[in-house]
Amino acid sequence: MSADALLPLLKSTFGFDHFRGKQGDVVDRVMAGQRTLAVMPTGAGKSLTYQLPAVALDGCVVVVSPLIALMHDQLRGARAAGIRAASLTSVDADFADTRQAYRDGQLDLLYIAPERATGEGFRSLMEARTPALFAIDEAHCVSEWGHDFRPDYRLLRPLLDAYPGVPRLALTATADKHTREDILVQLGIPADGLILAGFDRPNIRYAIRPRIGAAKQLADFIAANPGPGIVYCPTRDGTERMAEKLAAATGRSVSAYHAGLDPERRARVQHDFVASEDGIVTATVAFGMGIDKPDVRFVAHAGLPKSIEAYYQETGRGGRDGDPAETLMLWGAEDFARARMRLGELPEARVAGERARLNAMAALVETSECRRTLLLRHFGENPPESCGNCDNCLEPPARIDATVLAQKLLSAVYRTGQSFGAGHVEAVLTGRSDERIASRGHDKLSVFGIVGGEEARLIKPLVRTLVAREALETTEHGGLMFGPAARAMMKGEVPVTIAEPPARRTRRQRGGGAAAAANPVGDPLFEALRATRRELAAEAGVPPYVVFHDAVLRAMAADKPDSLHAMGTIPGVGAKKLEAWGDAFLAVIRQF
Ligand code: ADP
Ligand code: ZN
Repeated sequence: MSADALLPLLKSTFGFDHFRGKQGDVVDRVMAGQRTLAVMPTGAGKSLTYQLPAVALDGCVVVVSPLIALMHDQLRGARAAGIRAASLTSVDADFADTRQAYRDGQLDLLYIAPERATGEGFRSLMEARTPALFAIDEAHCVSEWGHDFRPDYRLLRPLLDAYPGVPRLALTATADKHTREDILVQLGIPADGLILAGFDRPNIRYAIRPRIGAAKQLADFIAANPGPGIVYCPTRDGTERMAEKLAAATGRSVSAYHAGLDPERRARVQHDFVASEDGIVTATVAFGMGIDKPDVRFVAHAGLPKSIEAYYQETGRGGRDGDPAETLMLWGAEDFARARMRLGELPEARVAGERARLNAMAALVETSECRRTLLLRHFGENPPESCGNCDNCLEPPARIDATVLAQKLLSAVYRTGQSFGAGHVEAVLTGRSDERIASRGHDKLSVFGIVGGEEARLIKPLVRTLVAREALETTEHGGLMFGPAARAMMKGEVPVTIAEPPARRTRRQRGGGAAAAANPVGDPLFEALRATRRELAAEAGVPPYVVFHDAVLRAMAADKPDSLHAMGTIPGVGAKKLEAWGDAFLAVIRQF
């Protein structure tokens, strides 16, 4: 049976009219009994490619998944769509019931952790009844090249090979070429079984700015983004301080999350965030791995992420439901200085790789071209020159030639002995004498006062750029000294341009996220539907998005269906949800 033949089932189960992106290709292969590796970005809808076959095929689809939180999230969603789903994990109390249900052929979908899937008990379960499909989620875990290798995944192969007739579907959002090839080999999938979807997440808006008062900048950003969001902070302390500041500045509920909190507290913060429609979490990168919240509306970084991969994965946690999501990264010269300092502590073999990662980040934060283009090129794609949905596309920054100014700046750093900070060097260049300058005779240097008026405001941004580009490094005491790229720049051999500093840029009139977001502001029907969704979600013990996504409520508010039949035509309304919740929403619509 082809994927197209499943369209009616897609509609009745999930309420969707079409497959998205490569979903149809993947489902085609699964239904034909083939082996497949699907590499699709977060939010592309990977789970549907085995959940739909789970409903269509006789027998049960077994899904290997590494994180219990993710599993349970999926389980809730599948059950709400009327799929007979269960999981076998260490925290499931209904173990015996689940095994019996599987034996009796009462399950469509069974989630299991890799360490359990390779155990004896599971083997005997599989012998009792042959599964319809093995789906291996987060399949990059099988590869040592992947960023998240799990030895348990290596033990899956014998289980799979014991059932050569059962199709395999490996899924991942993050796998470079090397890792992809390795997954194919490790899981016994033919090379032509690779289905690769593009990396682009068009609904995510990218914006990157120099950090000039993180708390204020983030508070402004959050004020324009009423939905749920994540603020990544570099340190544990930082998450707690930022949570306090943001709560005070925005009046919203903000919780800190980091690995130093006790497990109970962490679970609570995570649970509350997933259930919320407006919660904010300030977090270290420990947060997000096991979270599958589709309605995250913004992701901010208070400091420089580790790599482009990390940045893309972290920002990728926004907007999985396809609605607009905003991102903002703040960076400073000290982020690069610190990261370059740490290079010195690394084993020799890793230095080159880490330096390349940092240089890629420098190119990203500094570019005045399209951010998305740069990101997608990094992942080996060939995107158009501009995307229309990043800061540089929306408001192209003016470029200023700073080649000569860079020569003056480097010269001042050199002549003052490569040990003073940016403030001192700036004072020398602009001819502001003080005691420290006079006592050292820096007011007698040829570089004293050679930068005037308008140009003075470019010195600080230029220092940031030169640190990012490794022309300047910082000493232990915060002084500036020459980096490897300094000499050529001082001779004027490399052109230096910088973006017009933000303070002088016209203030954005766009109103931030409010304009970018899809939800209507102050529509009483939409708000009433949301209130009903909250009540129904609380009753069912699930997060609101499990009931319906915002997009579904928007369509209800716009179309005002007056019957269950009419409501059933709205994308995202499947038969099971219509039966469970349709009347409640109809009653709300009738009041308007
Ligand atoms: P992934 O696992 O790839 O990150 P999910 O499986 O969580 O993505 O799906 C992301 C979102 O896309 C889900 O909220 C899902 O309801 C939605 N979705 C999936 N397939 C479709 C489709 N064909 N049409 C509309 N929405 C879809
Ligand atoms: Zn762009």
